[in-house]
Amino acid sequence: MPIKIKKEAVRRGIINRVKEISGIDINACLQCKKCTNGCPVSEYTSSSPSEIIKKLQLGAGEELLDSEIIWTCVSCATCYSRCPMEIDMAQVMDALRVLAEETGAAKPDGNMPLMNKILLGTIKTFGRTYDLGAMALYKAGTASYMKDMDKVPMILKKGKIALLPSQGADKKMVKQIFNHLEKARKK
Ligand code: SF4
Ligand code: SF4
Repeated sequence: MPIKIKKEAVRRGIINRVKEISGIDINACLQCKKCTNGCPVSEYTSSSPSEIIKKLQLGAGEELLDSEIIWTCVSCATCYSRCPMEIDMAQVMDALRVLAEETGAAKPDGNMPLMNKILLGTIKTFGRTYDLGAMALYKAGTASYMKDMDKVPMILKKGKIALLPSQGADKKMVKQIFNHLEKARKK
């Protein structure tokens, strides 16, 4: 797919903000496309991880935040494991999600921003994701109380989600990381 960058976008590119939030050196990308070839979601979206990187390198601005893959990325890290330059795309996608939220570009017609917020909230509270809690909050936030409820007993029986939050995390340290990031973002 051809990559189109608006001329005026070069002046207001978001690459530095993405670098700042993710800590990833986006300019190290060689465009080998190994990430895209292994990405389980790129074939279902109109853009791919390597395209996102290329667009950032070319100076794309906030229009990039409207890309569907930012919200369909499942943070599986397949791209990272294949990347010869060790670029962690999941972190880049996370940074783009943060910017999409900050600028109000988060897709209003989808529930992924809500799910993302809820999952991060459970990590901040419990030190790790708490799936059952996140599920309950998501259902409350989308008023979809009964949807897929018939699958819950099977999910619990197979041990796919735990009834209680994980006890092994260093909650204090995780909270400190969140607080540090929130302060850094306000600067
Ligand atoms: S695998 Fe790494 S170097 Fe290759 S295109 Fe993807 S991000 Fe760039
Ligand atoms: S982390 Fe996201 S971008 Fe990377 S392979 Fe998985 S779904 Fe694709």
